[in-house]
Amino acid sequence: MKRKLLCSFISFAVFMFALPLSTTAHNSDYWSGVYTGFITQSNLKFRIESTAITSLLTSSVYHSAYNWSGISSNVGNIGVAIAAPGMPTTGFFSVYGQVLYGGTLGTTIYMDSLGNIVNANSNWHMVCILMNTDFSAYSGTGDPTQVAKKVFMHEVGHTLKLCHPVYSPGASGHTYNGGYPKTIMNQGLPKSSTPWVSATIAEHDKSNLKAKWGA
Ligand SMILES: [Zn+2]
Ligand SMILES: [Zn+2]
Repeated sequence: MKRKLLCSFISFAVFMFALPLSTTAHNSDYWSGVYTGFITQSNLKFRIESTAITSLLTSSVYHSAYNWSGISSNVGNIGVAIAAPGMPTTGFFSVYGQVLYGGTLGTTIYMDSLGNIVNANSNWHMVCILMNTDFSAYSGTGDPTQVAKKVFMHEVGHTLKLCHPVYSPGASGHTYNGGYPKTIMNQGLPKSSTPWVSATIAEHDKSNLKAKWGA
């Protein structure tokens, strides 16, 4: 009996020691499927349409998407182009602005080659992102620009097939609010009362991106 207890203690101690070294990715944190068009996760380029440019949603907000580059060797440099007259419309996924209701800050729509909205777990041909142009949606924290960057990076995370992390008590890294990891892929405003909503790409996001597309 004593021997068994000692064994359990040793395996527990080894487990606790090994935990920080192990990967914290979970396949419930990302969608299945790939891109089937000629734009893929390795050459994602976004065209910021004029409707998506406001005094808050500036080019520097959209350039925050570059933070997803270089984490996975199979996710290349993210491209961001501010639409200008004469610029080609092909080769890009569009980002549009409109007033969104119900507390939605941004949303990503995934489609087949005909533009039909498809299931998140299926193969995608293209995506588009809608950003809320209502300035007041980004208030409630100290820095609306930081919130806007969080929103755009979150939506670009969706285009990379990362989903909202599943509530999973006991899963490695899911230590916040009973079962959520600290990640930019959580919904909501990044504020001190919700420390699991990260304003920047967190370690758990990086692990999931590498698990999805390769290290
Ligand atoms: Zn997870
Ligand atoms: Zn989302």
